[in-house]
Amino acid sequence: MKLYSTNNHDLRIDFQTAVFNSMPQDKGLYMPVEIPVLDQEFLQHLDQYTLPEIAYKVASALLHDDIPENDLKAIIEDAINFEAPLHQLNEQTYVLELFHGPSLAFKDFGARFMSRIMAYFLKDGEALLDVLVATSGDTGGAVALGFLGVPNTRVTILYPKGKVSEIQELQLCSNGHNIRAIEIDGTFDDCQHLVKQAFADDELNAQMRLTSANSINIARLIPQTFYYFNTLAQLFRVGKREVVFSVPSGNFGNIAAGLLAYKMGLPVKQFIASTNVNDTVPRFLETGIYETRPSVQTYANAMDVGAPSNWVRIMALFNEQRENVQKMVKSYRYSDEQTVEAIAAIDQQYGYVACPHTAIAWLGIQEYQQNNPSAGDTFVFLSTAHPCKFPDIFDAELAAKISIPEQVSELKKKEKIATAMQADFNAFKTFLLKTNQD
Ligand SMILES: *Cc1c(COP(=O)(O)O)cnc(C)c1O
Repeated sequence: MKLYSTNNHDLRIDFQTAVFNSMPQDKGLYMPVEIPVLDQEFLQHLDQYTLPEIAYKVASALLHDDIPENDLKAIIEDAINFEAPLHQLNEQTYVLELFHGPSLAFKDFGARFMSRIMAYFLKDGEALLDVLVATSGDTGGAVALGFLGVPNTRVTILYPKGKVSEIQELQLCSNGHNIRAIEIDGTFDDCQHLVKQAFADDELNAQMRLTSANSINIARLIPQTFYYFNTLAQLFRVGKREVVFSVPSGNFGNIAAGLLAYKMGLPVKQFIASTNVNDTVPRFLETGIYETRPSVQTYANAMDVGAPSNWVRIMALFNEQRENVQKMVKSYRYSDEQTVEAIAAIDQQYGYVACPHTAIAWLGIQEYQQNNPSAGDTFVFLSTAHPCKFPDIFDAELAAKISIPEQVSELKKKEKIATAMQADFNAFKTFLLKTNQD
């Protein structure tokens, strides 16, 4: 697969380079030069394939020149080793549960696939790939667990002290092996700044092979297409063929993958991008003015993004035409108050407890149905995280209804191991150099 930069359409880069660079020098994002359309025979009979089989078909359409068939199959079977089931709420409405991976969030799809792709591309004899990540919570857990035990990789996670939830902290700090955590006495921005300084430091780069596990990496986008295809496979089995997806969106990577799947031939009637009050995209689709803003903190904190990185990818998929995007993507925003009401409503109507991000996706469906009262469609909203990851949101009665997954009970038995550090680059650099020699 050849890729270009959204800031330079003449650039041509191979997949391996794009994976290790994450982002082009010109600060655009990598996009495939050609988007393959899958064959009709496969698309019409998705119901005959399992999730890993679908994942292989989709990935190989993109990556057949980059990774031999059997290697790609092995990577997928190792990375996509959990389910993405549809749970039916009523005749028309389903929730797509993307939280059955190790970190209980959809980011496991991207992180697990990317980690294995990176390990695969390490050159023979290249000792170690050092992955540096700053996290405000969810990404770190997915990356840590995604790389856990992957040969020739070592992950260093920086997180802000006291600013991540208990479960998130344990997911970062209890792994051991090739994963280590640094608890920074500062904010998420401090963590991110330290990582950026490390990437710019000549001495560090001379001694270590540093890479970021950035959410905009093309190797995280590709595996997120798999579950959109697999949703249609599940719907075909119950005789449903026309679907509207609602995607809870922050950085717009998840929905960008859905739209890439659509461009690869997946039959989808409509996408809904549901956001919290960080509403850069709904405002843009309404007014035509793309104006980013500083992010505002909300209950759906994994979507607190004022400048969604992946939006340029979506514009690229639709040839930069807002009218074309508008046809395929509706976008609505919701407040914290509406989010909490939605969590209660979903529980009352269906006996189902949704995380705040998921509840926002459900609200998007309600609004779309009101605006488009035609019957017949099937609605799927994406559940991006397990509700147990956000204990502060729920009152005691709702909290009691959340079944705690096995991963979490196991986590709570584990010990937290983190290196405490001031937000000071010299301290961070000394740590990296010293542990590199050990
Ligand atoms: C990251 C995340 C989102 C937002 O996904 P994007 O791809 O950034 O739009 C939504 N929900 C949860 C739980 C997340 O972790």
